[in-house]
Amino acid sequence: MRKLRPKSLKEVIEKYKEQYPRNCRFFDGKSSNNMLQELLALPPKASPKQIFNVIGNESWARHFCAECKEYFSRGIAFEGGEAEMYVCNSRIIYVCNSCIRKALKL
Ligand SMILES: [Zn+2]
Repeated sequence: MRKLRPKSLKEVIEKYKEQYPRNCRFFDGKSSNNMLQELLALPPKASPKQIFNVIGNESWARHFCAECKEYFSRGIAFEGGEAEMYVCNSRIIYVCNSCIRKALKL
């Protein structure tokens, strides 16, 4: 189990470079180079919202809660143990702080 925080711009840029080859063309006419330049132009401590505004997909800077099915910035990742039994193709379950708080009230 580990605490989650929003992904940093540096992490997002590294992942983006891995996932999209240079000069990859998107349906909207932009290219992976354009997107990378826009990401590199953001301040080093760019917020998840600023990253979303460039990429247009929340999954790059935030996590997806297995319970409420919303993207979140802060929560817990449950790794290994029983998590392996329930989630296909992933050994990690992400849960937001809001759902953790609700669980504690049960
Ligand atoms: Zn949640």
